[in-house]
Amino acid sequence: FPALTEDPGERVALRFGERSLTYARLAAAAGAVGRRVAGRERVAVWATPELETAVAVVGVLLAGVAAVPLNPRSGEKELGHILADSAPSLVLAAPGAELPPVLAALERVDVDVRATAPLPDGHAGEEDPALVVYTSGTTGPPKGAVIPRRAVATTLDALADAWQWTGDDVLVQGLPLFHVHGLVLGVLGPLRRGGAVRHLGRFGTEGVARELSTGATMLFAVPTMYHRIAEALPGDPALAKALAGARLLVSGSAALPVHDHERIAAATGRRVIERYGMTETLMNTSVRADGEARAGTVGVPLPGVELRLVEEDGTALTAYDGETVGEIQVRGPNLFTEYLNRPDATAAAFTADGFFRTGDMAVRDPDGYVRIVGRKATDLIKSGGYKIGAGEIENALLEHPGVREAAVTGEPDADLGERVVAWIVPADPQSPPGAEELADHVARRLAPHKRPRAVRLLDALPRNDMGKIMKRALPHG
Ligand code: ATP
Ligand code: MG
Repeated sequence: FPALTEDPGERVALRFGERSLTYARLAAAAGAVGRRVAGRERVAVWATPELETAVAVVGVLLAGVAAVPLNPRSGEKELGHILADSAPSLVLAAPGAELPPVLAALERVDVDVRATAPLPDGHAGEEDPALVVYTSGTTGPPKGAVIPRRAVATTLDALADAWQWTGDDVLVQGLPLFHVHGLVLGVLGPLRRGGAVRHLGRFGTEGVARELSTGATMLFAVPTMYHRIAEALPGDPALAKALAGARLLVSGSAALPVHDHERIAAATGRRVIERYGMTETLMNTSVRADGEARAGTVGVPLPGVELRLVEEDGTALTAYDGETVGEIQVRGPNLFTEYLNRPDATAAAFTADGFFRTGDMAVRDPDGYVRIVGRKATDLIKSGGYKIGAGEIENALLEHPGVREAAVTGEPDADLGERVVAWIVPADPQSPPGAEELADHVARRLAPHKRPRAVRLLDALPRNDMGKIMKRALPHG
């Protein structure tokens, strides 16, 4: 972080709610953290409140130590798993933060944002771990991805170039800081270029409008947040004006429904840039700030990232037709090193020539834009000889006025192999749209074999902390 080490001036680095830290204050407080953790291998960070979390992680990184962010909303069982797996030698937490009993045995160090010590000079190499981040657990128990310092630096520099970040940029976000989206992109990203971060604590459209109309230049959010924005826009001209004035609106962590993308574009004149990444690879694709953001696509590979689509028989696609589906495999300096204590899972995740198998399926348009179809494990439905991606059916369902949320899965079917099933949260629970009507609605937009054969109503879709739909938690999903 050149801005911290060379010129820790009076510019604001972090403003989280009512509290702000200048670069000089951040350097002093991170220095104090760094001194306390120097020489350790891995330390845990209790990821709330966000201000202490950010200071802690910056201090740990400057000391050349690896940080393991802990999700405060994890249950005791998951926390127990993460602690046993990552074996941190202490836990950093805000003064007064109440930690669950499972953390009681660990040495505790308070993160005091008013403390002062010189910045530590951690002698860490590029390949040394910066972070151990547990995956979201969308498809199975969370795995600890060991992310080297090299991957953090290259991903942030590639994004900063693509999105033309400067020290004048001010990011507003309301993401949790225990995943790469909120922490690596949303905190370390702006700090690397000397910009500032405002954290909302709790995401809300009022906060977004307020910050973007008082100096914030960029918004990072997940699709559930953009959905709330899309819903609020018609009745909130101040929000529309604020978004219209932003330099960059970015979405990631899950697919942004086309319907929400288009509604935001219509109301603000701005297109949300989608980026695609994951814990293990940090960021793979995006659109340049001066490029063309297209609904339903995640852009093109970032510089340095090799991305290929591989068919089931193992052949990599050589031409892009916008139709042929393959698994996304990536190779480059953005990749993680290994899953902690999981040599088998690590070996299985890589191909012989060093590509990481993402488990995500996609097509590419003739000009290279990547369209994610869904995850191999849960979003690819093999029905009547067709391979059907859940995502486009979900997008079509969301265009129906009677549908608030939608998830599509495949279920065993004697004739078809699998059949398409739609899980719907109706806009009005008193009068949900009928199954026939929804199937026709889809069939009018997509090929006939993509129509849902069954519709199931739910009060809410199961989602994790990032707003990702947990399809394996659906009643029969
Ligand atoms: P687990 O690996 O434990 O099952 P997870 O894959 O959800 O959990 P993350 O690493 O946080 O954990 O999420 C990465 C995944 O999120 C990607 O593999 C992809 O499926 C999805 N994703 C991220 N960005 C996008 C996007 N823009 N569009 C569609 N999917 C996305
Ligand atoms: Mg994953």
